[in-house]
Amino acid sequence: MRRFELALPDTLEACQQALADGPDIKVVAGGTDLLPQLKNGVLRARKVVDLSALPELKLLEQAPDGSLRIGAAVTARTLELAQPVRDHVTSLAEGASVVGSYQIRNLATLGGNLANAAPSADMAPPLLALDAQLVIAGPKEPRSVTAADFFVGVRQTVLAPDELLVEIRIPKPEPGSGGMYLRHTPRRELDIAVVGVASQLTIQNGRCTRARIALGAVAPVPLRAHKAEERLEQQAITPQLIEEASKLAVEAASPISDQRGSAEFRRHLVAVLTRRTLTTALERATGTSGKRNGAI
Ligand SMILES: Cc1cc2nc3c(=O)[nH]c(=O)nc-3n(C[C@H](O)[C@H](O)[C@H](O)COP(=O)(O)OP(=O)(O)OC[C@H]3O[C@@H](n4cnc5c(N)ncnc54)[C@H](O)[C@@H]3O)c2cc1C
Repeated sequence: MRRFELALPDTLEACQQALADGPDIKVVAGGTDLLPQLKNGVLRARKVVDLSALPELKLLEQAPDGSLRIGAAVTARTLELAQPVRDHVTSLAEGASVVGSYQIRNLATLGGNLANAAPSADMAPPLLALDAQLVIAGPKEPRSVTAADFFVGVRQTVLAPDELLVEIRIPKPEPGSGGMYLRHTPRRELDIAVVGVASQLTIQNGRCTRARIALGAVAPVPLRAHKAEERLEQQAITPQLIEEASKLAVEAASPISDQRGSAEFRRHLVAVLTRRTLTTALERATGTSGKRNGAI
């Protein structure tokens, strides 16, 4: 690996000063994406800013309104185990629980997963389905974007080089909500998603008041299947309706064929995983799985 200067700021201000110090600066959180990229020459950095001493980025708390505030450097392993995450935003705990191995999950952070912007990132679809907001700090005032607007292309986000993803905010799902994330991988362990789907439903008085379906690894960016969501909203959800929504979700996908699966196989998986995640989300929302509000 080429030599680089390492900065270890312990305040956000010092971090921003370090980031303002000219071109070719990269931040590192867990390093599970960045270090391989530096080693194999995909990326070059003159200076690397390590985020591990910033307490704000390790925050994980429930705000008084019930929403979750998650610091960008919270690890996948923490999210997989944290009770408020498992209870209220189950699909995120499920997305976190499939990242790499225990060793990887102990290093891999939520912010790194999002900022790396791989189409297959497992923690992205749950955040789209949960209407998460991403808080970004930079030289100007902090700004906030929706998870859906954060991604602009393969490994490209709205982050400017001198900006930092600080926090992820997830509104508290309403009573009668449930969600699920599922992915397909050819190998059971240490593989990336060929397709990943997160679904989130809110059921009130027997009708769906809110439906979210987010797809990963089937387009340059994770995206919502809006037509499929609209098919479900204001309806009493039946297996027939779930089947229809699953077919509509396929229309949102524009997958590629590669060595890990053909475009046709990926489209098939979108329908299968959408059907399965919606069915479980419905059970969790209505308590028919014995696990109300999506608790796992
Ligand atoms: C063996 C292996 C298996 C893996 N399996 C999976 C898997 O199953 N699913 C999956 O989704 N991923 C997987 N990954 C990828 C990786 O582990 C995750 O994407 C992880 O969440 C990245 O987090 P990190 O903290 O390690 O990021 P880092 O490597 O530290 O950073 C990644 C990128 O994000 C930027 N960055 C990090 N934090 C911030 C921030 N707060 N603000 C702005 N930019 C930031 C960095 O500059 C870098 O460009 C795997 C990786 C390995 C090595």
